Amino acid sequence: MNFNVNATQEDLTLLQTLDEKTLLEEIQMRYKGNRIYTYIGDVLLSINPYKDISIYSIRHQREYTDIKIRQALPAHVYAIADNAYQTLRRTRQSQTIVINGESGSGKTQNAKFLTQHIAFVSGGHLDIDELETRIIKANPLLEAFGNAKTIANDNSSRFGKYLEIKFDNDGEMIGALINEYMLEKSRIIRCSPGERNFHIFYHMFAGLYDEQLKNNLLDQPDDHRILHTFDGSRVFADRQSYIYHQSAWDELMRIMTTVGFNEEQIETLIALLAAILHIADIEFAHDVETDGAYILNENCLEVSAEFLGVDAGDLARCFISSSQIVRGEEIVMLKTVPQAEDTRDALAVSLYSRVFAWIVRRINLMLMPERRYATGQTIGILDMAGFEDFNENSFEQLCINTANEELQFFFNFYVFRQELDEYSQEGVKGKTIKYTDNGAILEMLLQKPLGLFDIINEESKIRTATDLTLAEKFNKYFSAKKNIYIKIKSKPLCFTINHYAGPVTYGCGGFLEKNRHTLSHNLLDCLKMSQSQIVSDLYAAKLSSTGSLQMNPDAPMRNRQSVLYKKPPSLNLKNNQSISKKAGKQVKSKMSKGIVQTLDRTTNSKTLSSQFTNSLVELASKLHDSQPTFIRCIKPNSMKQSNKFDIELVRKQLKYTGVMEVIRIRKSGYPTRISHRQFIDLYKIIAFNLTSKVEPTGSNCLKILKATNLHQFEIGKTKVFLKHYHTELLVRKLDDI
Ligand code: ATP
Ligand code: MG
Repeated sequence: MNFNVNATQEDLTLLQTLDEKTLLEEIQMRYKGNRIYTYIGDVLLSINPYKDISIYSIRHQREYTDIKIRQALPAHVYAIADNAYQTLRRTRQSQTIVINGESGSGKTQNAKFLTQHIAFVSGGHLDIDELETRIIKANPLLEAFGNAKTIANDNSSRFGKYLEIKFDNDGEMIGALINEYMLEKSRIIRCSPGERNFHIFYHMFAGLYDEQLKNNLLDQPDDHRILHTFDGSRVFADRQSYIYHQSAWDELMRIMTTVGFNEEQIETLIALLAAILHIADIEFAHDVETDGAYILNENCLEVSAEFLGVDAGDLARCFISSSQIVRGEEIVMLKTVPQAEDTRDALAVSLYSRVFAWIVRRINLMLMPERRYATGQTIGILDMAGFEDFNENSFEQLCINTANEELQFFFNFYVFRQELDEYSQEGVKGKTIKYTDNGAILEMLLQKPLGLFDIINEESKIRTATDLTLAEKFNKYFSAKKNIYIKIKSKPLCFTINHYAGPVTYGCGGFLEKNRHTLSHNLLDCLKMSQSQIVSDLYAAKLSSTGSLQMNPDAPMRNRQSVLYKKPPSLNLKNNQSISKKAGKQVKSKMSKGIVQTLDRTTNSKTLSSQFTNSLVELASKLHDSQPTFIRCIKPNSMKQSNKFDIELVRKQLKYTGVMEVIRIRKSGYPTRISHRQFIDLYKIIAFNLTSKVEPTGSNCLKILKATNLHQFEIGKTKVFLKHYHTELLVRKLDDI
C-alpha cells in the first residue's frame, strides 16, 4: 500500500532510526497533536483520542478519496478504507481489514468509520442510500443487544463481528452480511462489580410506555435479579441516566422500523426480554420431604411459563428434575438447589443468545443482495476482542485468546512468512528476520484429536468427568510442551499457556459446564412444544457454525401466541400444594430405587468449543482467501480520558499487537511485490516506446526503475520487490509523462 511519500512521519517505517523508544516518542508526539493515526508500512496504528477530533466529516471523506490530496494529509482510517476498495476494483480480489486491540481501544469506532467510507466511495446504485443507511443503522441495533458497560469501556462489544460488504462487477455496494462470534452469553446471568447487563434491558425499562411495562409484568429494573447493581445503587442513578436510556430506546425503535422490523415483531421481542427477566427471578429452596429443590416463588414460575407458552408444571419439572434413559427405562431424579439454579440460568442464557442470533439473522436478510448481482467480491471488516489477561481467566478468555492466536498466525503468515518465503524463492538475499511463530501453540489448542479444545469436548461427553479430571488430562498431554504449557503444582485446576502476547494462567473451574451449555432434553422438548410460535421456532432451529440461527426469520410472526402476554397469569395458586413440590413428589415416586443418575441427557447440539473452533476455521479460511490489511488499536490510558498517554500501557499493547515486529520486518523488507510481466505492462512507457515490444525480463524492469531514479529495490527471478513508497513514485512518473 502506498499512502504517503512526503510526510515521512506518517509512515514510521520510513524513519531513519526506528526502535521501541523512537516509536513511543513519535506516537506520543503525534497523539498530543491529535494525530491519532500512524502508518507502519501498510499497518495502521490508531490511538483512541477519547474526545471528538473532528476528522470524520464528508469533507475529509472527499479529500481521502483523492489520491493526490491524500498524499499530503495525515494518516487516516479513511485511507485504509479507500485503499481496500481501490485494490478490490483493480485486482477483483476480496479484501479483509482486521481490527485488533484491547477493550476500549477504538476497534468498533474504526469499524464504523471504515463502513461509512466504503459506503461513501462505492455508492452509485439506485438503492444505495437505503442500503447504506441499513448497514450503518444495523450498528446501534447490534450494539443494544450485544454491547454492555464494562470497567474498560462504557460501550463494550461483547461479541466479535465480521462484516462482509458485497459488491457487483461495477464496484457498487449491493449488500452485506454480518457474522457474529462468541457472544459473551454468561453476562446475562452474571457480571462483575461495576459492570452491567446488555444495554437493551436498561433502554427497555426507560423507554417502554406504562401500558407496555404493565403488559409484560415489568415495573422497575431494580426488581430483577440480573439487573441489580452490586453496590446497592439504583439502576437509574439519576434522571439524566434515565433520560439517556429513554432516548436510546426511542432511537432504537426508529432504527428497527427503518431496518424493517414491524410493530408485532418488536412487541414479541419485548416479551422475550421480559420472559428472560422473569425466568432469572425464579428462586429455589431445599425440600426436606423430597430431598430435592423446589420453587420458592411460584408466581415467577407461572409468569415465565405463561410467557414461554408452556405448562407451568412441565417447566417446574424441568427445573427441579433430570432424567436419563438407561436400558430403555427412564430414570428420573431430583436436582439439588444449585443444579436447579444452573438449569434456570442456562435457560435464560440460551433464550437470550437465540434472540441475539435471530436479530442478526433478520438484519442479514435485510442486507442480503439480490442473487443476480452476486460476484463474490467482498470487503470484510473484522472487529474482535483483543488479547485478554485478567486476574482470573476462564473459558471465555481461553476462547478469545485462541481467536487472537489464530489472527496473529494469520498476521505472521502474511507479514512475515510470505515475505520471507518469497524472498528466498526469488533469490533475493540477505533477509534473515526473526519473528515469533505461534504455530505450535495453535496446534496444541486446536489440533484434532487431542488438542486442548478437543479434549474439553471429549471430556464433556463423559458423565463422570469433572473439571479436575479435565485439568489432569491437560497436564498429561501438554506438560511435555515446556515452552508453551505450564502445569501449576500448587493449583491443580490451573494451568498457564505462554501465548504470543505473554503467559496467561487459566482456571478450569466450570469449563465443562460452560462447554456443554446445552439444555436438557426435557427442557428442549418442553420449549419445542411451546404454544408460542416464536419460542418453539427458536428452539426447533439448528445453530449454524457461526452460532446464527438457520431458520426462517419470518416464521415467528406467523402465529404469535402467549409470548405476547394476553391475560395476567393467575398468581394465586388454587391448591395449597405448590406446583414444584407436587412435581417433585411425582418425580420421586417415579424414581427407580438405588439408581442414581445426576446428569441430564443432553442434546446432540454442538458444544460451545466445537461451535467456537468451527467458526474459527471458517473465519480463518475467509481471511486466507482475501488480501488483508491490519489496523492495530491502542488505548492511551485506563481511565478513558483524553490527553493522557500512559507510556507503559502503550508499550505493552504494541507488543500484544505485534507492532514492534512489523516495524522490524517492514523496515528491512519489501511490501510490494509485482511480477516482471505486470511491472512492464504498468510502467513500460517510463523507459520504452509505447508501441515497442518489451520482454518481461529483470533487466528491462531495471531500466524502468533506473529511469524513475529509484533505489533500494530488488529484482528477483520473476518479480520486482519494492518499498512501499516506490509505487507512488512510479505512478507519479507515469502522470508526468
Ligand atoms: P471493546 O473491545 O470493549 O468493544 P473497542 O475497542 O471496540 O472496545 P470502542 O467502543 O470503539 O472500543 O471505543 C471506546 C470508546 O472510545 C468509544 O465509545 C468512544 O467514546 C471512544 N473513541 C474510540 N475511538 C474514537 C475516535 N476515533 N474518536 C473519538 N472517540 C473515540
Ligand atoms: Mg467494540
